[in-house]
Amino acid sequence: MTSKLQDKRTSLIDPFGRQIEYVRLSVTDKCNFRCFYCLPEGFNNFEQPEHWLTFDETERVIKAFTKLGVKRVRITGGEPLVRKNVTELSARLNQLPGLDDLSLSTNASLLDRHAQDLFDSGISRINVSLDTLHADRFKKITGGELQPVLDGLMAAKIAGFKPVKINMVAMKGINDDEFEDMVEFCLKHDFTLRMIETMPIGSTGVNASKHYLDLQKVKQQLSERYELIPGVMPGGGPARYVQVKGTDLRIGFITPISQHFCETCNRVRLSVDGTLYLCLGQEHKVELRPLLRQGISDEDLQQAILEAIAIKPERHDFNASPGKVVRFMSMTGG
Ligand code: SAM
Ligand code: SF4
Repeated sequence: MTSKLQDKRTSLIDPFGRQIEYVRLSVTDKCNFRCFYCLPEGFNNFEQPEHWLTFDETERVIKAFTKLGVKRVRITGGEPLVRKNVTELSARLNQLPGLDDLSLSTNASLLDRHAQDLFDSGISRINVSLDTLHADRFKKITGGELQPVLDGLMAAKIAGFKPVKINMVAMKGINDDEFEDMVEFCLKHDFTLRMIETMPIGSTGVNASKHYLDLQKVKQQLSERYELIPGVMPGGGPARYVQVKGTDLRIGFITPISQHFCETCNRVRLSVDGTLYLCLGQEHKVELRPLLRQGISDEDLQQAILEAIAIKPERHDFNASPGKVVRFMSMTGG
């Protein structure tokens, strides 16, 4: 019995030798913001509630993944905190044997009121999207208000999340004069900063490539003001970190375009409708919801996941075919 399970665990390795140990779990495709690089303005064509995986179904799929060796889950969306009772789900996932690391990505607009419950439910790490510290720019980028996000960030700190990571999408002509201000903000509040290159995902109505900024240049710019030394950060993600010498501040650079990291990709994404996406930048997918609703056994569910991993593509095509993926980031689960 043990050896059979052991075989399955080692076989959650894709055709390119990558061990899949991380699931991004989208609990909703809805969002109360409309970040222009993620969702088109006025977009409202969201998945119907009867297609959402229930918490029971979600827990079942994640349990199957943990049986196959997955150790990390990040709850995301859309905006995960617009899904009702999401702390009930996180508490249930936190009980799953083998799951070592439960984290959350949020726009933080609703975090103020949920931070403590999320922390108490077992989420240990949190990432907050914040591209600017200017309220007017924030409104232009997201369509939402800055102040609740800042309140949410402070609530996360008070609740005990450590580290609190800030995700800043670096955009030419939008926030490229704010990198040093964001570094100072993170130094002041003891946050970790991660910068992300804009990816051409979905047809949001805005040409994301127009705002693309090579983060190698941003790093160079920051090194003229700060002494940057090599840094490390736990988390299993693709960010390459530096540390500001003499401080605890780590800055991560996520460079899907200028230096793709597909060869070390260890993740898959489960969307709210139960579709398993094998790559953020490709269409390869397997629909698990019909299988769940047809009464698939636990063993066959694990088998379906193993078969899905066998079609994980080698890499995205963002450089060669920008705009190839038509679904939005909020749908796949960023
Ligand atoms: N709503 C949550 C949030 O904003 O953090 C979680 C979901 S969001 C899709 C996850 C991450 O994807 C965010 O950090 C966001 O900035 C990033 N993102 C969305 N669209 C992107 C794009 N076109 N290029 C780069 N990053 C993007
Ligand atoms: Fe919503 Fe996050 Fe997408 Fe912004 S990046 S629209 S907050 S899902």
